[in-house]
Amino acid sequence: METVVQKFGGTSVGTVERIQNAARRVVETLKKGKKVVVVSSAMAGETDSLIDLAHSVNEFPPEREMDMLLATGEQKAISLLSMAINKLGYPAVSLCGWQIPIITDDVHTKARISRIGIQRILNLLSEGYVPVVAGFQGVTDDWEITTLGRGGSDTTAVALASALGADCEIYTDVTGVFTADPRIVPGAKKLKVVSYEEMLELSSLGAKVMQIRSVEFAAKHGVRIHVRSSFEEEEGTWILPEEEVMEKVVVRGITLDTKESRITVVRVPDRPGIAATLFKPLGEAHIVVDMIVQNVSHDGYTDMSFTVSRNDAKKAEEIVRKTAQEIGAKEVIRDDRVAKVSIVGLGMRSSYGTAARMFEVLSRRGINIMAISTSEIRISCLIDEKYGELAVRELHEAFIEDGEEIKIGDDREGQEGS
Ligand code: ADP
Ligand code: ASP
Ligand code: MG
Repeated sequence: METVVQKFGGTSVGTVERIQNAARRVVETLKKGKKVVVVSSAMAGETDSLIDLAHSVNEFPPEREMDMLLATGEQKAISLLSMAINKLGYPAVSLCGWQIPIITDDVHTKARISRIGIQRILNLLSEGYVPVVAGFQGVTDDWEITTLGRGGSDTTAVALASALGADCEIYTDVTGVFTADPRIVPGAKKLKVVSYEEMLELSSLGAKVMQIRSVEFAAKHGVRIHVRSSFEEEEGTWILPEEEVMEKVVVRGITLDTKESRITVVRVPDRPGIAATLFKPLGEAHIVVDMIVQNVSHDGYTDMSFTVSRNDAKKAEEIVRKTAQEIGAKEVIRDDRVAKVSIVGLGMRSSYGTAARMFEVLSRRGINIMAISTSEIRISCLIDEKYGELAVRELHEAFIEDGEEIKIGDDREGQEGS
């Protein structure tokens, strides 16, 4: 009998009615003769309010304690969802991460899954139960509770689907993955398919519809993902291997990331080893550095700017202040009011003029670019946060709505001609 993992996001279990609706969706699938493993997030807003609560007690809460607290959100949701499924006449059992177990490393608040014991789930399924698993949670080999980073229930679902050899359905509050966040661009179009690689870029660049790690996991293990609405029946978006994505477009999607901060170290002595000295302690603190810009050197000094996730910004600033003092830099400035807009698409590998056109679209609106970064299939620009949404709409119009202006070349090893 086919098994499917069905994951319900926060909004999909945000109220009593929505929990009942999710339970109905599960039961509909059971009635089709499939076995279902459910994964649930915390009720909408719950994780945010737990984080606020923590910060009102301690500005820098120990991360171990953060995980203890945040894990309660999902525990509450799974018990309620399980009760709702039982109420519809189908036996269900809720399980926290440690009861499965979902084993992770010990990096609190952003742990990675290292292995999953699936025997208990297999036993429950063969006895006719619906396992209702807490998303987002894990446990270390030393029995410490961990969480998988914001949006981590997606990763729980994909990892379980992989372990069970099942397809993975992600039920959320939009009908699929769109060419841009439909909240920002009302005319955004739903994609039928998107490749793992494109989805990985879209997620990393701000399309929070799927957590990055869940897409990484899916790509590595070939898990097929169907992102769809928990409120509507229509077919959603399939996230699949590139070979199965027939239509290669230059720009598949546009993203906006307002969750980064820029840190500038002013007047750093410009000598070999300085970048390593600045960035090493950040790496040791598990802080990921994204865009880096080093200005032209004047009289042996230079300014160095980089971006980090806004969640890490305070911590990064503290660390960098220490290093800046040691190396004799003038000052450290943190700017939280930045946004990163990006365009993503497999077709960029063999197109030309795309970067130039992106810069042109931004400049036409007088939007200044503070930093640029690229990969084979994306271009990102860091801009003032207040122009973020405008930039996304303008880029959507230029690349998706009037997309035919972009020229696809004759596969010249993916050269970017601008
Ligand atoms: P859930 O609580 O179900 O996990 P999320 O809030 O994490 O849902 O993700 C869904 C949200 O992602 C949507 O409400 C939408 O605003 C946002 N989003 C951002 N970019 C996109 C995109 N390209 N396509 C679809 N949704 C997007
Ligand atoms: N509840 C967690 C969060 O809000 C995990 C998730 O929803 O996927 O980030
Ligand atoms: Mg989510």
